[in-house]
Amino acid sequence: MPDVDVCVVGAGPVGLTLAIALRGLGLGVRIVDRAPAAKREARALVLWPRALEALDSLGVAGILRRNAVELARVTIHGRGRRLGELTTGWHRSAHNRPVNIEQHDIERLLCAELAGRGTEVEWDTEVTDVKVHEDRAEFTLTRPDGTAESGTAAWIVGCEGTASVVRDRLGIPFEGRRRTGLQVVQGNAHPEWPLGEQQGHGHIFLARAAPSSPSRCPTGRTASSASATTPTPR
Ligand SMILES: Cc1cc2nc3c(=O)[nH]c(=O)nc-3n(C[C@H](O)[C@H](O)[C@H](O)COP(=O)(O)OP(=O)(O)OC[C@H]3O[C@@H](n4cnc5c(N)ncnc54)[C@H](O)[C@@H]3O)c2cc1C
Repeated sequence: MPDVDVCVVGAGPVGLTLAIALRGLGLGVRIVDRAPAAKREARALVLWPRALEALDSLGVAGILRRNAVELARVTIHGRGRRLGELTTGWHRSAHNRPVNIEQHDIERLLCAELAGRGTEVEWDTEVTDVKVHEDRAEFTLTRPDGTAESGTAAWIVGCEGTASVVRDRLGIPFEGRRRTGLQVVQGNAHPEWPLGEQQGHGHIFLARAAPSSPSRCPTGRTASSASATTPTPR
């Protein structure tokens, strides 16, 4: 008899959302992540309507919306002038506009929602091996001090990003290739510019080598991502 119904490997947005969905179905879930705690660095910033609809069906859209800012319009700039404007809200849905909310805030809120459903993320817990049998998956969990534990689950789900141990042990290839020569840099800042600071109003700056897209976060900071074609390490 396996120890648990499902072991979810990786507590990023995919693993956390899946764990919440499985708990909603009444299944026993163990979710592990090798990181010491939830992420803090700037990553994705926009939740689009379809994602909000899916999260709504799991009962977690409300808490995310309360910690987000609706994105109503985006002004596009290029060559030193305003080129045009995108407006949102055309989608026929209860969530007809995208919202700005930082990925680490999404993850923090999903962790809390999951804990409220009886499952805590086990941090500092890396899956280092997986064996799949007819009726169960057997996995090894390794902690930073080198101690290891083995466990079993009726199902194991790899939500641990591109370098997935689960996918590797199942022999599923990672299709696609690394894109070289392109770097995406993302950060948060308080800009000083003549464009003002309007809630729900983002900007995209088109530039030959480094387009950038600042948008206001719920925290009042402005998150900006810029892609640049640069010689990156290969
Ligand atoms: C700097 C940066 C900026 C980004 N900006 C954007 C953006 O603007 N818009 C956008 O749509 N996307 C953006 N992304 C991409 C987005 O962050 C990812 O698509 C998203 O995080 C993928 O979610 P995930 O749950 O699949 O995986 P991840 O978020 O990568 O989570 C995987 C988790 O698995 C854990 N893990 C890995 N291996 C193991 C293991 N063996 N055992 C246990 N745990 C393990 C990791 O610690 C991690 O927490 C950005 C990414 C980065 C790095």
